[in-house]
Amino acid sequence: MAVSIDLKPQENRSVLAERALAGAAIPAAPQALGEKPSLIGLSREELGEALAFVGVGPRQIKMRVAQLWHWLYVRGVADFSQMANVSKELREKLSAAFTIARPEIVTEQISVDGTRKWVLRFPPRGAGRPVEIETVYIPEEGRGTLCVSSQVGCTLTCTFCHTGTQRLVRNLTPDEIVGQVLLARDRLGDFPDAATPAGAIVPSEGRLVSNVVMMGMGEPLYNFDGVKAALAVVSDGEGLAVSKRRITLSTSGVVPMIEKAGAEMGVMLAISLHAVNDTLRDELVPINRKYPLKELLAACRAYPGLSNARRITFEYVMLKGVNDSIEDAKALVQILKGIPAKINLIPFNPWPGSAYECSDWDQIERFADTVNQAGYASPIRTPRGRDIFAACGQLKSESERMRKKDREAVAAAG
Ligand code: SAH
Ligand code: SF4
Repeated sequence: MAVSIDLKPQENRSVLAERALAGAAIPAAPQALGEKPSLIGLSREELGEALAFVGVGPRQIKMRVAQLWHWLYVRGVADFSQMANVSKELREKLSAAFTIARPEIVTEQISVDGTRKWVLRFPPRGAGRPVEIETVYIPEEGRGTLCVSSQVGCTLTCTFCHTGTQRLVRNLTPDEIVGQVLLARDRLGDFPDAATPAGAIVPSEGRLVSNVVMMGMGEPLYNFDGVKAALAVVSDGEGLAVSKRRITLSTSGVVPMIEKAGAEMGVMLAISLHAVNDTLRDELVPINRKYPLKELLAACRAYPGLSNARRITFEYVMLKGVNDSIEDAKALVQILKGIPAKINLIPFNPWPGSAYECSDWDQIERFADTVNQAGYASPIRTPRGRDIFAACGQLKSESERMRKKDREAVAAAG
């Protein structure tokens, strides 16, 4: 893996940040030798190839693909033996060659406000090591939002974000991204036809995963292919069926990929704006040095399918004394002129060692009023799951620490 250079974390992070700013691709995890590939996250065509690989004849492929798709994404089975209308012989062949296992749960935490956070572990890929990521479920009145990770860590180094202090370990693969959705639906008892798994936490109001936001760890547009493949599966009407209007991809501003995301993924777009001039945005969101505001906003104006019914969400983290003045609010309205937009004000979520403070509540409300009076919806995002470190920007996995432990284990063994 190109990213496992053995440097001190801080050095490695900046090397990777530079590389990301230079636009270099970060590879997805290669498949380990001897490790069974997963059928999760494949397109129908790829699933057909997998079936052909185990000897299914060409005339049966389409029907078998439809059967598998139903078992995987409507019934939510995680074991080939449960696929009742698939012959035992084929089930055995499939299970010898492939896996449909869920990610391993390292921890499951429930916040006092009902937010749930899972730390999930994925097996080593290629010469790599196991990695851990976080997935968060946020129940709200009338809907349930799953916040999904796209990378282990992040190459970008936004100064207010905890994930940004963790170097990038690797991109997640489509099966690992879709696996987060499957696992959450399992744990919530959200596959209506499946038996509720032992230990599942079924919310009392029976809330389901109705919305998916690519707002967990990582920059989704730096894992374009992985995220695109995964979201195609998540939005497939004959499977998990989360409508594209209920899937939001949040980007820090990878300008060259924005139009492509709209054209090829067709999901809702959120932009992590956070500042209204380049000087401040260069500091808060360093990718701005490569793609400044003017280019970012031009890409937003050109976003395919943009209309008053399909607005772009601009996320704006409220940092006390940094970007929260009324002048900032007025400038915000100015720069967004002409873009069908919604402005999501996010109270800053602190994390150990962070250099910022959250704006005072009065100031957040004044800011929201100014934006609102200019005709933009400007909801203030209620911080969720702060007590379990599940809130925006607080996610940071233990992969780094594991790496150190792994190294020590190897050293001890040698
Ligand atoms: N990398 C993508 C998506 C993940 S971050 C992006 O940057 O858009 C999801 C959102 O949480 C982003 O808007 C991000 O800027 C915001 N965020 C990060 N750290 C935060 C913090 N400490 N408090 C509040 N919001 C934060
Ligand atoms: Fe990465 Fe997004 Fe955090 Fe910036 S805000 S460091 S892009 S996860």
